[in-house]
Amino acid sequence: MSFKLKNIHEVFGFSKEHSTGDYKVVETDLGKHTLGTINPNGVIEIEKNMSPALKRKAVKHELDHLRQMKSGMLRFDHNNYYYKPDPFSQIEVIPNSQINTHDRDLPWEKDAHH
Ligand SMILES: [Zn+2]
Repeated sequence: MSFKLKNIHEVFGFSKEHSTGDYKVVETDLGKHTLGTINPNGVIEIEKNMSPALKRKAVKHELDHLRQMKSGMLRFDHNNYYYKPDPFSQIEVIPNSQINTHDRDLPWEKDAHH
């Protein structure tokens, strides 16, 4: 009996094409209104049914959020967004229920590539 070991990309569904050692990307079905998203652990998800160019664009955008998360500017969980515009400012706690997370006027969206 033999079996083939799956590599880490196959086990977790990471896209080999878009993931690197620094970040992981999963291609999935996000519905027609979302091109990409990032989860609180920093794993990027992109819509699988779109062109390679749009996929790269979506990854680039989510990488801006990853940068914000790593720098301490942005954090979020199921209840809130925690936004700290600069190292000297207070953390603003913004309940998810009070914002449309797709709103491009949100400060962390304005700070990201579109
Ligand atoms: Zn965004």
